[in-house]
Amino acid sequence: MPSLSRRCAMEVDTFRKRDRFWKYAEHLDGKFKCKFCGRIFAGGVPRVKSHSSGIKGGDIDTCTKVPEDIQDAVEACSGGEEK
Ligand SMILES: [Zn+2]
Repeated sequence: MPSLSRRCAMEVDTFRKRDRFWKYAEHLDGKFKCKFCGRIFAGGVPRVKSHSSGIKGGDIDTCTKVPEDIQDAVEACSGGEEK
């Protein structure tokens, strides 16, 4: 089974770093709409990350509809590579 960091690298290859989370959410004006659960939240990339990774403790509800493999990939990509 590929490691999380390897899967993250695959994600990064396909998408530009900052924009890669926009495949999980639709970018609206100052807001985003989650592609999995269809809920609309205010905010940008950091909140998309918190929402779709399912990591509790952010300032946003976590997604209940995001598939587990996506959740893992987002979580892996959130691990301190962006300073
Ligand atoms: Zn969602």
